[in-house]
Amino acid sequence: MPHVLVLNASHEPLGVVSMRRALVLVLTQKAVCLEESGAVVRGATHTLPVPSVVRLTRFVRIPYRGPVPLTRRALFARDHGRCVYCGAVATSVDHVVPRSRGGTHTWDNVVAACRSCNHLKADRPITELGWRIRPAPAPPHGLAWRIIGTGHRDPRWLPYLRPYGGDQYVASRRAATAALREGAELDGIGA
Ligand SMILES: [Zn+2]
Repeated sequence: MPHVLVLNASHEPLGVVSMRRALVLVLTQKAVCLEESGAVVRGATHTLPVPSVVRLTRFVRIPYRGPVPLTRRALFARDHGRCVYCGAVATSVDHVVPRSRGGTHTWDNVVAACRSCNHLKADRPITELGWRIRPAPAPPHGLAWRIIGTGHRDPRWLPYLRPYGGDQYVASRRAATAALREGAELDGIGA
């Protein structure tokens, strides 16, 4: 079942909805289709192209939504699917300051890591090991990251996400895909 990217009237990415929800938005003229998915829905009297990207016809004011949600998928995308300590393909999540030492589960303390670095580091802080992370971990910025965090993706969305942090996403997506091939579990945040 394809998912559909919803843009505000101002073209800012708002979220991802089901195909059914997107069709209702278009049929009730609350949104217009900007990109078709190539699929069609056949009704009794006519067929409807299934959208891939829709734009709301009226601007919706979105309240401040706080930082980008920390999901394993978004984290691997931010860190380009690579271990921040050694650059190998990342397959696990590491808390830079271990939770046992008061480290928080936040963007500035959670990184993608390979299993051997994670194992070697155990519950020690990196200062004890003489390891460094450059640049320091930070929350990703841009509305595109809220779309990335949903785990839904479609190459047709990229031109619409690019002005909102999508470029970083494009680069990191390739690496994250490589990490997936190596067996990284991207669903659920884990330890
Ligand atoms: Zn490593």
